[in-house]
Amino acid sequence: MLKIKVLGGGREVGRAAYLIEDGSQKFLLDYGVNFDERDLPRLPHHVKPLEISGLIISHAHLDHVGAAPYLYITGRPKAFSTMPTMEVARLLVIDFLKLNSAVIEYDMREFENLYDNTVFLEYGEKYEEEGFKLVLENAGHIIGSSMTYLETGSGHRLMYTGDINNRDTWTLPGAETLKLDVETILIESTYGGRNHPPRYIVEKKLLEIVEETIDRKGTVLIPAFSVGRSQEIATLIAAEAPYVDIYLDGMIKDITEIYLRYKKYLKDSSLFAKVFETVNFVTGAKERKKIVNKPCVIIASAGMLKGGPSVYYLKKIYQNPRNSIVMVSYQAPNSNGHKLLEEGGIPELEIDRVNARVEWLDFSSHAGQDGLLDIISRYRASLKNIVIIHGNEDDAASLRDVILEKLGSDINIYIPKVGDEIVIQ
Ligand SMILES: [Zn+2]
Ligand SMILES: [Zn+2]
Repeated sequence: MLKIKVLGGGREVGRAAYLIEDGSQKFLLDYGVNFDERDLPRLPHHVKPLEISGLIISHAHLDHVGAAPYLYITGRPKAFSTMPTMEVARLLVIDFLKLNSAVIEYDMREFENLYDNTVFLEYGEKYEEEGFKLVLENAGHIIGSSMTYLETGSGHRLMYTGDINNRDTWTLPGAETLKLDVETILIESTYGGRNHPPRYIVEKKLLEIVEETIDRKGTVLIPAFSVGRSQEIATLIAAEAPYVDIYLDGMIKDITEIYLRYKKYLKDSSLFAKVFETVNFVTGAKERKKIVNKPCVIIASAGMLKGGPSVYYLKKIYQNPRNSIVMVSYQAPNSNGHKLLEEGGIPELEIDRVNARVEWLDFSSHAGQDGLLDIISRYRASLKNIVIIHGNEDDAASLRDVILEKLGSDINIYIPKVGDEIVIQ
């Protein structure tokens, strides 16, 4: 008998935390945080660190790793991840604590304890211990992101997607699904309810906006997450429009250095290295002031215009119709980016009439509905249970409906909420 306890990330995006119990063995798949409407972190349900046989961290995003250091205040559970996951996570946790140290009870010591207790696995490497087997494989979402294949002591074979993208991008190869017989899948459903437009169309649109703006001597601001999206957009523009000056500002530089250190995780490491020799990393206030008046592309964190250099640039460029602002990341409701797109202004930043061109483009690093269905269908022959997680209720329900329609009704499908326990015989 296998039990799956949903400690977070049930009928919600983020706060991923799933406890797999098989007899006395307990595996924790991710332990992340979420943010409420006031931007305060929300933690997953409690778990006793001493009982955990293995903690698996699928990737470095805070909604998968942000609560994990809590487990190292009193315990030392063995963790598993790839190297770049923990290297990137360290930078994101430092940043997270800067903003939230008043409400978060761990500090970097606990993160370092987590790091020191992590067994680092390469993609495809088999790990075996006291009757459980573990393999991490590329999930294509951000650098080092993995899908987890876990065979428990009683022989139950389970796959956890983490956040997954099965399409190649400029920087990362798409997810690699292993041909293993899997009985149970825990699958994310961030985009369970819809498909993304073809990537080449979105890329073409971005390049058109860049070209047009540069032609009229304007500046293009692209607020982007420091991990993944910034590198992706810079590589695309540098490869397809090499005459354009690209400036990068924010934590992007430190993250890019990790990308360069873990080249084998990249789709085309020589292209990546070449691109990041040609782009400019903004070095200080003087340079910032200078570049807002020149035709160029500025890729700056944060992706939702919450603090960070992107807000500085926005304030400098929004009034001039020569300029363009292109949002390329998910915009949470209530975020500044969401307000800019929906209301045409951000009252909190005293930005009302925006004259610059404003666009949003879907560069998502999550599989859409067809992609998720494709991943599931590869395990069709052995699959008995699907647990749909990491998605809001509507997206999860849409994914369930399309699974029933396309793959038949003989698979058990669960859409648990936080606090639920699923028992699999
Ligand atoms: Zn996530
Ligand atoms: Zn993620």
